[in-house]
Amino acid sequence: MDDNLIITRLVVGSLSANCYIVGEAASGEGIVIDPGGNAATIREAIAASGLDIGTIVLTHGHSDHIAALHDIQEATGAGAAIHIEDADFLEGRGAYSSQFGISYPTPRPPDRLLREGDEICFGDTTLTVLHTPGHTPGSICLRGEGRVFTGDTLFRRGIGTTLMPGSSRRVLLESIRRRLMTLPDATIVHPGHGRETTIGAERRDNPYVRGDW
Ligand SMILES: [Zn+2]
Ligand SMILES: [Zn+2]
Repeated sequence: MDDNLIITRLVVGSLSANCYIVGEAASGEGIVIDPGGNAATIREAIAASGLDIGTIVLTHGHSDHIAALHDIQEATGAGAAIHIEDADFLEGRGAYSSQFGISYPTPRPPDRLLREGDEICFGDTTLTVLHTPGHTPGSICLRGEGRVFTGDTLFRRGIGTTLMPGSSRRVLLESIRRRLMTLPDATIVHPGHGRETTIGAERRDNPYVRGDW
């Protein structure tokens, strides 16, 4: 499976979010996860990948994950998919929106509202939506192919902030324990910020997961 899957991580925007371009070598089909800024860089990486982007998936609605959404929608013609409980983040406020001091072109409304268990498909690959609220009410992780894309739910040795309106640390830790720590140790974690890790390494070394923070 892995030889067929191409994963490019781009670090974008002033908050250094990870934008992922994920696709299949065989079919040439792919998706973009979290176009959070630096639209030109993302566009160039998509072009270099040669992938046909079918969907732009948002792990949640914060500006550092959606700031380049409008541009990537325009460039690829792909529709956006976001959990129904985070869809309000995409609502238009004129030509430009602003959130947490980041101003960005207002994206088109989402084409697809996601719920627990929904599937994102490209070529022969399927990623399953895990609803993992806590950082935001509509935060999701995408699981498949021995991997999980965790957005701002789980980082290498860290977790997403719960200091935002609508965040809850209790709910976030419950999501991590019930939905992520139940995955196999070898599962590769692609977080929304920072380097990749594995479920096993976080089970062992993440102080928030261990409960000794
Ligand atoms: Zn966030
Ligand atoms: Zn973030």
